[in-house]
Amino acid sequence: MQAMVCEAANRPLALRTVPRPSPGPGEVLIAVRACGVCRTDLHLVDGELPDPKRPVIPGHEIVGTVAALGPGVTGLRVGARVGVPWLGWTCGHCAYCTSGRENLCGEARFTGYQRDGGYAEFAVADARYAFALPDAYDDAHAAPLLCAGLIGYRAYALCGAAKTIGLYGFGAAAHLIAQVALVQGRTIYAMTRPGDSAGQAFAHTLGVHWTGGSDQTPPTPLCCGGSASCARSRISRVPTARRSSRSRPTCRSTCTSCRSSLLVPTRRSIACAPARSMAPRS
Ligand SMILES: [Zn+2]
Ligand SMILES: [Zn+2]
Repeated sequence: MQAMVCEAANRPLALRTVPRPSPGPGEVLIAVRACGVCRTDLHLVDGELPDPKRPVIPGHEIVGTVAALGPGVTGLRVGARVGVPWLGWTCGHCAYCTSGRENLCGEARFTGYQRDGGYAEFAVADARYAFALPDAYDDAHAAPLLCAGLIGYRAYALCGAAKTIGLYGFGAAAHLIAQVALVQGRTIYAMTRPGDSAGQAFAHTLGVHWTGGSDQTPPTPLCCGGSASCARSRISRVPTARRSSRSRPTCRSTCTSCRSSLLVPTRRSIACAPARSMAPRS
């Protein structure tokens, strides 16, 4: 099969002919129909992720159809359309895996980083991380939902019923979630990096109620029913979120990522820290 391969850091992906993979126990072979590009893919190519598989086929927003089932796979059929996200394998028995927090599994493996991903004609995925996709989305529109949509929705869900939501950073995840929130009648403030007029203009085209730099105070405080939601890719830098001077500790702030991030509140700011072993080298 043909694949775009990352052979070394800071080099363009190379089109290579490589053996078609075979699904092992619990795995499925997927004929790739579309695969999105995430900022994390760029981090991989730029050599900013520690200890990647080399060479590796990047791509973790995979949409395809099941072409073959490995031994022991149930619940999927050949021909089914599925999506494969960043989280590609977990141990299944640690304290995190058994409590619904498998994204924190210490043995986790990630698609397009430690497992070959979707920039190829075929990809193998753990059947536990190959998800059925609704027919309403075509392949190209479904692909970004496997990462940006997934992490954005997680942050959005943590905001609960808040009527006013601050989105700190307006990248792939935030621009998807903003559209959902606006349809649901929420008030959306979009905070970008200071001076990012292009990003703020883009947010306006989607109908958000206010945009500004993360060093600015939104028109109303994000507290007492308001929430700050920070949806980010795994190690992407996000703007420091400055709390409104009128905010109180009761503010609901959430932060999520492909894997997990720690929310680090300080006296005047909210910052995102990469989760433990996934911290980038710097
Ligand atoms: Zn991603
Ligand atoms: Zn585990």
